[in-house]
Amino acid sequence: MRSAGIHHITAIAGDPQRNLDFYTEALGLRLVKRTVNFDDPGSYHFYFGDNIGSPGTIMTFFPWPGARRGTRGSGQVTTVSFAVPRNSMAFWKERLRATHVIAEEIEGRFGCNALRFLDPDGLQLELTVIPSNVEGSRRETFKVTSTGSLDFARDDGSPSARAIRGFAAPTLEVRNPEKTEKLLTEILGFEFVAEENNRRRFRGSGSNASAEIDLVSSEAGFGQIAAGTVHHIAFRAADDDEQLKVREQLVARGLNVTPVIDRQYFHSIYFREPNGILFEIATDGPGFLIDEPADALGETLKLPPIYQSKRDEIERVLPTIHLRHSAAS
Ligand code: ZN
Repeated sequence: MRSAGIHHITAIAGDPQRNLDFYTEALGLRLVKRTVNFDDPGSYHFYFGDNIGSPGTIMTFFPWPGARRGTRGSGQVTTVSFAVPRNSMAFWKERLRATHVIAEEIEGRFGCNALRFLDPDGLQLELTVIPSNVEGSRRETFKVTSTGSLDFARDDGSPSARAIRGFAAPTLEVRNPEKTEKLLTEILGFEFVAEENNRRRFRGSGSNASAEIDLVSSEAGFGQIAAGTVHHIAFRAADDDEQLKVREQLVARGLNVTPVIDRQYFHSIYFREPNGILFEIATDGPGFLIDEPADALGETLKLPPIYQSKRDEIERVLPTIHLRHSAAS
């Protein structure tokens, strides 16, 4: 396998409305799917991304109202990083300040500056300038209005000067990096790119910033997965065929891998890598346009076929939410 890189990252949140507001309004991502957790249909599953939720731009959440907070530690993706254009740092500093988010500037990691801050549930995020040798997401359909708010460009597709272009290398903290490194390079097809202090960077075959991940050697105790922490990270498989082949290889290594699970928008397998991080391999297709048109993504609750007959019951249990910046408005 030569994985193109990150497909999506899924984290746990508390209040759904607060989560929705932060990622759509403060960070300017689009809600591309409003659905339920397929393993727990009484709670939401939100997908945020670029205009159509291209693989490599998808940040997803299980919002559990009242969930206790988790802790960062080893065996986790401890930081989720997003790629922003080179000239956009001043804009983002001001934007975070205006939305009352305290951000800390990190200097020169692999030669690129970053802003680090927490989301409302305590999840650690970074905005990193896109290195000049990688491309941003090709579907750049956000635009920044004259008032400084991020709005979705509907049809003109005019590229934004400053919007998030997808993931940049997230930080995976582990006690024994060699074991995770072997899995990444020998099975998932990542290549070692660079090293800095206790951080080693790997790149998949994709040409954009979401092809990269950072493995950090950590002596920290194991983190606890709850609100404000990453639940799992998914890597891209080109199609079902590639996914089945990589599954065979993982099983041959003695890893406990789930069967292929239909997630409606992609097909998935899951396993714990040797340091305890939950890994998923997800297919690029069929994608988020399978059950609603591009201009209506995220506006109504979508349910997979197995839950269609329970729609009334499910809608009664889910907290009411409002998408303030609708793509259609
Ligand atoms: Zn997932």
